[in-house]
Amino acid sequence: MSSQVIAIDGPAGSGKSSVARALAATLGWSFLDTGAMYRAVTGEALRAGVDLFDEEAVGAFASDVTIVTLPRVSVNGRDVHDELRSDEVNHAVSIVAANPLVRAEMVRRQRDFAAGQPVGTVVEGRDITTVVFPNATVKVYLTASLEERARRRNDETEASVNRRDVADTTREASPLRRADDALVLDTTGRSVHDVVEEITQCLKLRTSS
Ligand code: C5P
Repeated sequence: MSSQVIAIDGPAGSGKSSVARALAATLGWSFLDTGAMYRAVTGEALRAGVDLFDEEAVGAFASDVTIVTLPRVSVNGRDVHDELRSDEVNHAVSIVAANPLVRAEMVRRQRDFAAGQPVGTVVEGRDITTVVFPNATVKVYLTASLEERARRRNDETEASVNRRDVADTTREASPLRRADDALVLDTTGRSVHDVVEEITQCLKLRTSS
């Protein structure tokens, strides 16, 4: 049984979710939004009143929650889909995502998910090409100007997008960085269709050689 992976990383608003979703639909593969997993843990930890700076407590909390990301995000059976992009979660998610215990648990779940898919999975996040699936069939790093990224994230201010980027690229545990062998694509001014087309061509090349 094959379980191929296309791994996509990049900063907030670089187009990862739209591209990954459309790519998965084009290929008939599964899709995994790992940002939704970190957001789900964060939202639920805030709700439960867990001290986000208590690494052990948040790590234990993350190990206990059941997260489903599709078709809508739920935690322990409760639909939290519409709560994940609140200012509160936007602010707190980088703290939770910097916790190595949380990361270890999410990475394990992400690998299990991909291993269980019938054909392949398109996975997007911040550490997917570098840590979670370093041997992915195709690795992509998406980028775009800060102005365009903030415009795409119309529910979040440019300052918040920038603050998350700084936190995500400078943290100690699995910071966002470009994998040496990733296809780097600047999506500024490009359509989702166009970017999907380029990644599909790259997949064809990789799998035919
Ligand atoms: O992709 P999205 O913007 O929803 O991700 C929310 C946050 O989750 C990011 O700012 C980052 O802190 C964290 N994240 C991460 N690793 C991933 C995916 C997301 O640290 N693989």
